[in-house]
Amino acid sequence: MTDSLAIEELPSPNCDDRPAGQKIDTLILHYTGMPDAGQALRRLRDPQAKVSAHYVIDEAGKIYRMVPEEKRAWHAGISAWKGERDINARSIGLEIVNTGHEFGYRPFKLEQMDALVALAKDIKTRHDIPPERVLGHSDVAPLRKQDPGELFDWYRLFAEGIATWPTPKLVEWSDEQFFEALAAFGYDVSGPPNAKIDPQIARRAVCVAFCRHFRPAVLRPVPDPEMKSILAGLVDNPAA
Ligand SMILES: [Zn+2]
Repeated sequence: MTDSLAIEELPSPNCDDRPAGQKIDTLILHYTGMPDAGQALRRLRDPQAKVSAHYVIDEAGKIYRMVPEEKRAWHAGISAWKGERDINARSIGLEIVNTGHEFGYRPFKLEQMDALVALAKDIKTRHDIPPERVLGHSDVAPLRKQDPGELFDWYRLFAEGIATWPTPKLVEWSDEQFFEALAAFGYDVSGPPNAKIDPQIARRAVCVAFCRHFRPAVLRPVPDPEMKSILAGLVDNPAA
């Protein structure tokens, strides 16, 4: 239970009510992408910034609660997964302090990962969040976001029973079949409606987002045989 986790309350005004009857079934992981934790914590509580998260984990593994889980925190922005576009309404947003790609991206600290695992397990005692719905910000906003990025240890979350991880499966897919499978898995392969995104740009962004999460050693904007076999393994058994 939450009581067993040391959590410091640091309320943010940047939230509102979830839609009535809305179930929470998604966990979105972010990095703060700011030069230091202090600036990140200030920004996430600044009414002008209009951004927040339910929880923040600093580099020492200290957990802050900014928004109660029953409220809608403003963390995902314009985003989509499995055709759903109000990701904030159905998710819990968790920020991990890291300077990010803009300010010197670096490995996440072991203390942070330990705290994240404990917190994610605690969250899962309250909400039915399947492993395949524990996602990165870049998964739900591939055109805009890179976080938590290719240094994030998704495999550990899988090993802890929190997130999904593929067992690759050899397939002879065309690129078209790959994109169809990406969309079936959940990725928005065409960009927000009315945004008039060049389909090639949208597809390239989704390929890189897919790699950041499931094949972080090589980020490629176009499908390759290994990406296809990884995705085939996920689609075959997304909750494995
Ligand atoms: Zn983010």
